[in-house]
Amino acid sequence: MPILNRGLWHWLEESVRALAKADTGEPPTQVLRIGVITSPLGAEDTPALRFLILHLNTLQQSFQFELFPGMPSNPLLRKLASRILVDRDDARARMAAFVEQIKADIKRRNEDFQKHSPQLPLEAPPEKFVILSMTRFHDNFYSARVPDEAPVCAIIALGNWKRSMAPPTIVEFFLVLLLRQAVALASPSLSGSVHLGTKGCLFDLGEDLSDTRYKVLGGFVCDYCAKALSRDGHPALRQELTTILAKAWFGSPDKPSVVASIASNLGHNLFITKGLKPNFWESIRSTFRQETVKQLLTVLGTVLASALIFYLGFRSAH
Ligand SMILES: [Zn+2]
Repeated sequence: MPILNRGLWHWLEESVRALAKADTGEPPTQVLRIGVITSPLGAEDTPALRFLILHLNTLQQSFQFELFPGMPSNPLLRKLASRILVDRDDARARMAAFVEQIKADIKRRNEDFQKHSPQLPLEAPPEKFVILSMTRFHDNFYSARVPDEAPVCAIIALGNWKRSMAPPTIVEFFLVLLLRQAVALASPSLSGSVHLGTKGCLFDLGEDLSDTRYKVLGGFVCDYCAKALSRDGHPALRQELTTILAKAWFGSPDKPSVVASIASNLGHNLFITKGLKPNFWESIRSTFRQETVKQLLTVLGTVLASALIFYLGFRSAH
């Protein structure tokens, strides 16, 4: 009986795998659903932040972020909401249980809802979750993920953020770090730190927030990390992330985008407000800027209308 050489055997294995994959009819990469819990932010769990998180769904096709209410009695969420110094190891020890509890809670809510609307299909809860908080970990790390291999849950803890770190604002920190955690939940090669060098890459180690600000200000995906994304089956993600990180979708202070205008109407001026909520002076500046623009447009409109009337009157008189 002829013996297949190793190369031919490998080729046969790969062919069988490819055929099996094609039979399922599934696309090579699937959208990863990620439940986002913002309840530990308490009074700072603002509509603008929630709107911007959901807007990320329109800017890329790899992740689908879904907001879920927290569970008021859950011990992990209560700790993260308390804003006392939290032992990161203790938080990590509670995260796996939290995922099971919130999935059970979502299933229960779905079933309650279905009792009133039985015709609606019941969508299963996501498998992965990210919790946003303003807590501080005892070791000054600003994130935690479990388990180390193939994580299913992450916490972002920005209690060490200070207004003096802006720019970028804390909303930018949350959005960019949410993307970072989303990739960690999706891509095994990038589930942990990958390079010590600070490049402005989304996957810089960034031991403290002051280093992390560079990737939040205008990050990119370096070649090393882009190759890891491709290896893990996410070749399009580099471009999607780069586009989001460039933040052209914010517009500019003089020409805010529709997104920035909506955020402003929800009480958060992306170009002025540093924290999750505007302080007194930021509110004044934001209002002044909006009113100034309105007044300028009114004056400009009046001047143009007057000039037109004068011109038409001048023509009819001659
Ligand atoms: Zn990198």
